[in-house]
Amino acid sequence: MVQFVQTNPFEMAQAQLDECARIMDLDPGVHRILRVPAREIHVAIPVRMDDGSLQVFQGFRVQYNDAKGPTKGGIRFHPEETIDTVRALAAWMTWKCGVMDLPLGGAKGGVICNPKEMSPGELERLSRGYIRAVYPLVGPDKDIPAPDVYTNPQIMAWMMDEYSKIAGKNQFGVITGKPLSVGGSKGRDKATAWGGMVTIREAARVLGLDLAQATIAIQGYGNAGYYAARLARDLFGSKIVAISDSRGAIWKKSGIDPDEALKCKNDTCSVVNLPGTQAISNEDLLELEVDILIPAALENVITEENAPRIRARIVAELANGPTTPEADRILHHNGVHVIPDFLCNAGGVTVSYFEMVQNFYLYFWEEEEVLARLDKKMTTAYHTVLETAKRYNVHMRQAAYVTAVSRVVEAMKLRGWV
Ligand code: NAD
Repeated sequence: MVQFVQTNPFEMAQAQLDECARIMDLDPGVHRILRVPAREIHVAIPVRMDDGSLQVFQGFRVQYNDAKGPTKGGIRFHPEETIDTVRALAAWMTWKCGVMDLPLGGAKGGVICNPKEMSPGELERLSRGYIRAVYPLVGPDKDIPAPDVYTNPQIMAWMMDEYSKIAGKNQFGVITGKPLSVGGSKGRDKATAWGGMVTIREAARVLGLDLAQATIAIQGYGNAGYYAARLARDLFGSKIVAISDSRGAIWKKSGIDPDEALKCKNDTCSVVNLPGTQAISNEDLLELEVDILIPAALENVITEENAPRIRARIVAELANGPTTPEADRILHHNGVHVIPDFLCNAGGVTVSYFEMVQNFYLYFWEEEEVLARLDKKMTTAYHTVLETAKRYNVHMRQAAYVTAVSRVVEAMKLRGWV
């Protein structure tokens, strides 16, 4: 049995790959290549601060594997960013693009900084400095960054502008997640939750679950969690009985209105102040007797400890890494249908890919068209993973790995790399 080390995300990503290699009987040489990033750069970014001092920020860009195409992955600004987190996320991006069969490889970037303590001017100078530092490695046909934790469409616009200035021409396609007026795609804001809803719809069909009667609990009420609540109600008529954020969780048997909850969060900084609801803990929320549980906040929330008490029929992972490998085995054993993170939340990168395509065209689609194309890609990916799970007699996460890794390896073989 593979031993998973959970403290270091890159070791966890490697252990997941090791398990996949065992299931697939992967060639040991190919396995060695896939265990490490192909390329990484560490940069020092000098930034003039508002008080006149010069600070130097440490940044990274990791390009994990580009067998299937130019690499793609977000840039995270975080005080606790580490190179191993960036490596893990770059690996997961590779498998996410693989499972969606996008013509892209995986990458990720990060800067150690605390954006909450920086002025807009300082953030702009840092964003432009990061792009100057990684300029030779990124580009519309090399490596295309996007937003991640604490980076947003404005930051993407500054980065695109800096890259374009150095290149001497407009280069919208160098980065995705941009504002609509500078080359962004319609539908990107709700893309992650929309893609997750498509996988839930397909899982419900397979399991014979009537979504119009279904109850849902959602952990986290940010971009992913809020849109998940709204779309589950609007698309399926499901009832959202519990939601939470970092300050706590709330429950209401007759159902929570997603927009009232958002208004409450905007007005009071938390959903916990929503009138007519009962306070519960974030731990209780995970263990509620609901049809669908959607973790949409943090890593490592479903563990060996609480997995035996999870009563949902479907766990749809909009968050990255919410379930530990030990918990995975328990959920599988208990018959819980897990839609794994790099499949369930792949709507974001898929619409980012559509943004690249529209940037190459210089012709932009209506939201309806973006979401219809997303639906098709997500439906196909879900059923491919499900079929793989049956064929190999493994759980859905292992099947997602086998699907993704097989595609990357096929590209490596065809290119003559192995
Ligand atoms: P966000 O910052 O918009 O929202 C995060 C939410 O989680 C906030 O409501 C926050 O209060 C809540 N939260 C924080 N700590 C919590 C805790 N201890 N208990 C309960 N809630 C807590 O982030 P997001 O963009 O919605 O991302 C959420 C997750 O989805 C992350 O794991 C992210 O990597 C993943 N994801 C997001 C996207 C996307 O396009 N937004 C794409 C892929 C994956």
